[in-house]
Amino acid sequence: MDVTRRELLRQAGLTAGALSVFGAGGCVVPVVAPSAVAGVEVGATGGSYTLPALPYGYDALEPHLDKKTLTLHHDKHHAGYVRGLNAALADLAKADAGGSVALAPALTKALAFHGSGHVYHSIYWASMRPGGGGRPTGGLGKMIDRDFGSYAAFAARFAAVTKKVAGSGWGVLAYEPLGGRLVLLGVEKHENVFFAGAAPIMVCDVWEHAYYLRYRNDRGAYVDAFLQHLVDWNGAARCLKAAMS
Ligand code: MN
Repeated sequence: MDVTRRELLRQAGLTAGALSVFGAGGCVVPVVAPSAVAGVEVGATGGSYTLPALPYGYDALEPHLDKKTLTLHHDKHHAGYVRGLNAALADLAKADAGGSVALAPALTKALAFHGSGHVYHSIYWASMRPGGGGRPTGGLGKMIDRDFGSYAAFAARFAAVTKKVAGSGWGVLAYEPLGGRLVLLGVEKHENVFFAGAAPIMVCDVWEHAYYLRYRNDRGAYVDAFLQHLVDWNGAARCLKAAMS
């Protein structure tokens, strides 16, 4: 870490550890303010992005998500976003060094696409567990009751929004720090349709690569299985705590 970043952190009252944004359970931990989302592991040299390990075995989510899907999804798709993110930043730096901004608009779009893809996939792994499903308890359960009326109302809305995401995207439950509440969003691609400043705490990938081998074109059956058998509410609660701290 360079001195400048260290000094910025000191002034913000943060320690270097606060930069470990994928901390326990793959949560996005705010770096500067509660509303800041920085979904990356910042290496010791600053600015290098890495693929987090899958927090369980590739076959751990059978039969609801099969080993082949999880292997391809993590090792190929997620890895591709990390590679694309690092490449976009390297190419931008190269263009800057060469004194040309001709490619900056396209590279900036690539940065948003791959960067958001990396963030969401990292949270996605933490949003599931073997033997998951059921309903949230504790503070998260109370907040869902408060902000959606009941768990049943939340689940119905989550399923409806996630199943209807146009094209490829994500169902996202996020903590929105301005209102101090949870919001539910249907993100398109990785970087479109979001509430700026909110911190995702639980996400469901509805790109076809997430479910097509097992569920074919039945996205609805996959989303239902996600809620009933896969979602890890403990992981979401850890991410909520991190987002609110
Ligand atoms: Mn995916």
